[in-house]
Amino acid sequence: MIVAGAGMAGLVAAVRARELGVDAVVYEKGARAGGSMLLSSGVVWRHREWDDFRRECPGGDERLQRLVWERFDDALAWLVALGAPVVWEDTPNPVTTGKRFDTCGLTETLCARAGEIEWSPAPLERDEPTILATGGFAASPELVAEHIRPAAPLRLRANPWSTGDGLRAGLARGGSLSAGMDEFYGRNMPDRPWAEDEYVSASQLYARRAHIVDEDGVEFFRAADVTWSETNVVQATARRPGARAYYVLDESALADPDVVRQVEAAGEARVARDRVRVVASITHTIGGVVVDEGARVVGVPALYAAGVDAGGVATGGYASGLAQALVLGLAAAESVLAD
Ligand SMILES: Cc1cc2nc3c(=O)[nH]c(=O)nc-3n(C[C@H](O)[C@H](O)[C@H](O)COP(=O)(O)OP(=O)(O)OC[C@H]3O[C@@H](n4cnc5c(N)ncnc54)[C@H](O)[C@@H]3O)c2cc1C
Repeated sequence: MIVAGAGMAGLVAAVRARELGVDAVVYEKGARAGGSMLLSSGVVWRHREWDDFRRECPGGDERLQRLVWERFDDALAWLVALGAPVVWEDTPNPVTTGKRFDTCGLTETLCARAGEIEWSPAPLERDEPTILATGGFAASPELVAEHIRPAAPLRLRANPWSTGDGLRAGLARGGSLSAGMDEFYGRNMPDRPWAEDEYVSASQLYARRAHIVDEDGVEFFRAADVTWSETNVVQATARRPGARAYYVLDESALADPDVVRQVEAAGEARVARDRVRVVASITHTIGGVVVDEGARVVGVPALYAAGVDAGGVATGGYASGLAQALVLGLAAAESVLAD
């Protein structure tokens, strides 16, 4: 069996396959293992309440959401039992539950059990059972322009190798597109150069405290409508001129130490005492190929998709990409054995 991608979903699938006695060869196109998981905050979570998940991601495939939500706790226990290092025993967000992992340790733990990695793009046209776990298409400017249609190219806040290889292969072999192809998860970042090690620390996550205006001064989004994850304002920013916005802060916001810390991290993108210029960035895509509850690509024998390659789980909102990768990675490996 072929596993395409040594990120969260691919490594989980390979470890599970080997546990089940299935021989898996993991291919990795990038220069290192871990994918975007390695760069992430490492919080693997689900909504505490099923109804909140449905309300916050109303366009998502309910069968897949059920699968992720119901299998999550056992899947998390499986990950902990492997020895992956836990940093938080639960999330601080009252709406969610889960754990935060040290992502270097998590990558090492999974790699130690996933078998040898072949350091090349996966062969995606073979007949043998294949799990697509290439991490979506955020790093392909062409696919982002085609499906998401931002007003300007989106800056990438993720690993650079997830260029839609899984999506292209899934479609070429007869799969179909899920709902939510025009949606993405990302963050508004300071409009200045930033590097990989600032993906988390430079995020500007205080739109709820700001007046949100575009380059033309139009207040295009009300602070009261910003969700806790702020992904709705990021997606709206992507459609404004230059994919840019200004966060304008009043005195009470400027007195909040949490806001002040983030504004200071904006550096030269803080264009006035009370104003930060932000730019929409993309972390991962929400749409992908359609899969069933066994992570099988619908309509294509022996082809599976896990993680962000599996489309339509969080359509309409935001849910944990790591949880989606964990649960669907397990499900895909188990389906290969069952099939
Ligand atoms: C800064 C940041 C913070 C984040 N914080 C969180 C968080 O706290 N909680 C959360 O749930 N999510 C978070 N995420 C999102 C999370 O990291 C992703 O949703 C998750 O990693 C997706 O898993 P995946 O396996 O689908 O993709 P990835 O983990 O990105 O792995 C995909 C892998 O496939 C490889 N690949 C691509 N094409 C090919 C090919 N043709 N052949 C072989 N290999 C290929 C890539 O190089 C990569 O290694 C964050 C992401 C970032 C960048």
